[in-house]
Amino acid sequence: MLVIGAGACGLCAALAARERGVEVTVLERDRTPRGGTGISGGEIAGACTDIQRQRGIHDSPRLFADEILAKARGETDPGMALAMARASGPTVNWLVRRHRIPLTLDHVPYPGQSVLRAHALRSETVGTSGAEFEQLLVKAARDAGVSLITGATAVDLYVTSTGRVRGVAYKKKQRRHRIGCGALVLACSGFEGSAAMIRRHVPEMAGAPSFGHQGNKGDAIAWGEALGAAIADLGSYQGLGSVAWPSRISMWMLCLVGGGFQVNTNGERFSDESRGYSEQAPDIRAQPGHIAWSIHDRHGHAALLPFIRYRSAIDAGIFEKASSVAALARATKLPVEALERTVKELGAAIDGKQKDPFGRDFSSHRRLKPPYYAVRVTGALFHTQGGLVVDAKARVLRPDGRPFPNLFAGGGAARGLSGPASWGYLSGVGLMMATTLGRLAGKSAASSVRGRGR
Ligand SMILES: Cc1cc2nc3c(=O)[nH]c(=O)nc-3n(C[C@H](O)[C@H](O)[C@H](O)COP(=O)(O)OP(=O)(O)OC[C@H]3O[C@@H](n4cnc5c(N)ncnc54)[C@H](O)[C@@H]3O)c2cc1C
Repeated sequence: MLVIGAGACGLCAALAARERGVEVTVLERDRTPRGGTGISGGEIAGACTDIQRQRGIHDSPRLFADEILAKARGETDPGMALAMARASGPTVNWLVRRHRIPLTLDHVPYPGQSVLRAHALRSETVGTSGAEFEQLLVKAARDAGVSLITGATAVDLYVTSTGRVRGVAYKKKQRRHRIGCGALVLACSGFEGSAAMIRRHVPEMAGAPSFGHQGNKGDAIAWGEALGAAIADLGSYQGLGSVAWPSRISMWMLCLVGGGFQVNTNGERFSDESRGYSEQAPDIRAQPGHIAWSIHDRHGHAALLPFIRYRSAIDAGIFEKASSVAALARATKLPVEALERTVKELGAAIDGKQKDPFGRDFSSHRRLKPPYYAVRVTGALFHTQGGLVVDAKARVLRPDGRPFPNLFAGGGAARGLSGPASWGYLSGVGLMMATTLGRLAGKSAASSVRGRGR
């Protein structure tokens, strides 16, 4: 069995297939596997995990699927949402029990999720556990006897007229090689590293900084198009509406944990900042200069202080701190009257005297208190969510629903569960689709290889 891409999806597929006694080779374009997984926050959503149970958290696949569907406004496949939600908990348990990846439960309540279900390598902080997760997966794969060829970029698939994949051509050190396979798993993610594809499919984020893995060039989608596979939701992506600019420090939690708000350079709010960090990205890109100021107060500061990433950002000196709104306006060069008006209106909404024009619920907020903290931010693109349509066995489908005989996909290469745009992304579901679909793809590909071997 062959896998293209050594991120979470490819490595989970490889591990699942090795457990079934199948020989596995993984081709990875980078010399040191990293992928989007290795630069991610490492938060993996999973429902009904051992860890949740130990913490007394009541969850269910149905609840998780309903929350995925609610975030995606019903514009994704409900059957896939439920199937993935069902398989997500067993996948987290498998990573912990079988592959000794010591995941814990994060304590951050994410928008759109009513229970804690984000699993990561460190519970008290948010940020860098993706790198560690990727390293542990690579080690587990090597220990399991997976053959990992790095510095190898897959360039062509060899496919028969019936759609059966026979092998792959790849380039390593400028030389072209060929490798045969009984089944192929496409785990080479989406197209966050292709400016041309972003312009075509996600024009609202064309020109926005891309924080995704730049080696993900949309190869799986290009091969799928050439084979006549079903492809969906190419306009879908996860953005981030709190990237400090120009320092490029990503600060996802400012408006969520910190309860902050954002204004454009006119000192005016422009959205409900609490809906989610992804949809905030295009909203900021639509503001003058593609810039906003993220502002929080002393309560927000206290809530954010436990986070290492916040403390590092404070140390990096990216925040303006001021003891009054007028002083903040001077420090940020925002128009003072407009900013004072915005803060006054916010106060009225927090006090329940007036409805927020953007529909934000301020019932859990306290009146803003100085000192105020402000950071200049822009909206960035993290990873794309559209891709090859697969079924619950990770089989790549044709437009009429028939599967290709031995072609599988998962993670960023496959259609996600976020619907068609930026607003449907639920935190932790990127890695959930990489680990869960990866594991399912490995199982299915192993069965396909073993079935033909008999
Ligand atoms: C900054 C950031 C933070 C994130 N935080 C989270 C989070 O906390 N939780 C979450 O759920 N999601 C998060 N995500 C999303 C998450 O990282 C992805 O959904 C997930 O890593 C996708 O896994 P994957 O295995 O499909 O792809 P990747 O991990 O990107 O792996 C794909 C691999 O394929 C390789 N490749 C590409 N093309 C070829 C080719 N032609 N030949 C050979 N190799 C190829 C690439 O080099 C890469 O190593 C984040 C993303 C970013 C960018």
